[in-house]
Amino acid sequence: MSLIAGVVAVQGDVSEHAAAIERASAAHGESVEVREVRESGIVPDCDLLAMPGGESTTISRLVHSEGIAGEIRDHVAAGKPLFATCAGLIVASSDAGDERVETLDLIDVTVERNAFGRQKDSFEAPLEVSGLADDEPFPAVFIRAPVIDDVGGAAVLASWDENPVAVRDGPVVGTSFHPELTTDERIHELAFFETEGASVPELE
Ligand code: GLN
Repeated sequence: MSLIAGVVAVQGDVSEHAAAIERASAAHGESVEVREVRESGIVPDCDLLAMPGGESTTISRLVHSEGIAGEIRDHVAAGKPLFATCAGLIVASSDAGDERVETLDLIDVTVERNAFGRQKDSFEAPLEVSGLADDEPFPAVFIRAPVIDDVGGAAVLASWDENPVAVRDGPVVGTSFHPELTTDERIHELAFFETEGASVPELE
């Protein structure tokens, strides 16, 4: 039986996530069918969910207006994995410090949009990420990334320049950077299959 993975596709870098999910599943010996989520009714069938980068104001507006927001909350409440990157992390956070972003309050962190690279909008950094399959640094790509200012109940998986940049809160993993833009699928594997400490049911 294949897993069903949803990628929130109202806006942002969707196809890259789909490809990374396929690689991570294959690396884990699982077959997966990836569905793009643009309307309500798809998320309830998904075992795994990714919320990509893009523009957090647009993503938050559309997930609410399309009736997807409540389904994402239900997915997480059922203990199923959600991986949120960059703008996705902003939308999944508990506070984005910007009233135009209606957050989903799924990762107990406060973020500040576009604050990471004030001097340098985009950069790549080798990151030590706890919980990866090996000790190789992860090539993290930051693009107008949010700073995580305040970590409440979430666990920090990686930091850069003294700022947390990867966090886990139960079945939800969020990164300030874009693992889907590399060919390295280890963080997708970590988010979806290495769920130690999270109350994630066994996927069949
Ligand atoms: N700067 C974007 C925002 O605040 C996020 C950028 C990204 O996802 N790469 O929504």
